[in-house]
Amino acid sequence: MTLLLKNSFYSHSHSPHFLSSTAMAMCSSFCPQIPYHLKEKPYFSFPSKPLFSPAFKVFSSLASSVSAKDALPARIGFLGLGIMGSPMAQNLVKAGCDVTVWNRTKSKCDPLISLGAQYMPSPEEVAASCDVTFAMLADPESAIDVACGKNGAAYGIGPGKGYVDVSTVDGDTSKMISAHIKDTGALFLEAPVSGSKKPAEDGQLIFLTAGDKSLYDTVVPLLDIMGKSRFYLGDVGKGAAMKLVVNMIMGSMMASFSEGILLSEKVGLDPNVLVEVVSQGAISAPMYSLKGPSMTKSLYPTAFPLKHQQKDLRLALGLAESVSQSTPLAAAANELYKVAKSHGLSDQDFSAVIEALKAKK
Ligand code: NAP
Repeated sequence: MTLLLKNSFYSHSHSPHFLSSTAMAMCSSFCPQIPYHLKEKPYFSFPSKPLFSPAFKVFSSLASSVSAKDALPARIGFLGLGIMGSPMAQNLVKAGCDVTVWNRTKSKCDPLISLGAQYMPSPEEVAASCDVTFAMLADPESAIDVACGKNGAAYGIGPGKGYVDVSTVDGDTSKMISAHIKDTGALFLEAPVSGSKKPAEDGQLIFLTAGDKSLYDTVVPLLDIMGKSRFYLGDVGKGAAMKLVVNMIMGSMMASFSEGILLSEKVGLDPNVLVEVVSQGAISAPMYSLKGPSMTKSLYPTAFPLKHQQKDLRLALGLAESVSQSTPLAAAANELYKVAKSHGLSDQDFSAVIEALKAKK
């Protein structure tokens, strides 16, 4: 417990939630545990200086050894072992955490169980047996179902426990899940991630968190195992909104890049040279360098499923609608992803959106 308090102080000791009674209750159910291999993690050398002034109620820090070495919740649940959830849970297990997993398709739990994770047959049982439960689900519907549906986490969770939803959903969904979880006396944090399959594997995700600050402080060491940086953004809904804005930009960027690749081909240019030119200029982005070479070969190995990108654009457009913000580019991009879905490309990488621009015979 002493170690946990030190960790909370490191994060934001001035928070009004600091040392709240709920946090104290939570601390009492956790025991310190130091992952054995963390000293080797490269991000240990990063500074832990906040990027923004706390006066703006936005906190960010690069993952640091200070917090990661302090203490961890004793038992960690993980619900949803898809492209993202699987490597995230694996990193927790590899860091020495006591992890219990559940996935709708049970076979996806097998690699985790081989690594040493435990298995429970429902989200309810995972939440009941763990101190903190993470959820990484496909969309709002599945996030609600796993948290609040039959045998959902809300039926197993209670005072002294925490629920961290890292799925990409809209703010209303997040608030609804938060209300159900908090009705039980547990704490809630939304923490969608920026970063894809490879950053998830490498423990290099960016967490966009909002909700109970004391839960944020408690799970910082876990976020630092799975990610390279984290932002605390305030009330529930702010993390979801930040994630949707980021993915709205990304969806439009990929649609525009697709148009450029096809136009360059049509006018007799080598699209691989275009990718190289783009990578050297001011509009360079890791995404273009990463996806461009396979897009020019019409290959779309799935890191971020196209159906999830379209879901994020749909949710971002809803967010824009709610505040009467004009987003014509995102609306156009959304239409393109919808066409790509109608061509059966939902489970391909989102870069397959380029196929929607190719003339079909
Ligand atoms: P994914 O591979 O499609 O995994 C989706 C997960 O949700 C699977 O565990 C799936 O279970 C589960 N699921 C779907 N419908 C369900 C239902 N009705 N009930 C219970 N479980 C259900 O997706 P992902 O790429 O890991 O993405 C997960 C979330 O992270 C999404 O919100 C996505 O937008 C977001 N995200 C993804 C990336 C990325 O690059 N992939 C990056 C950042 C954020 P089954 O195995 O049984 O199907």
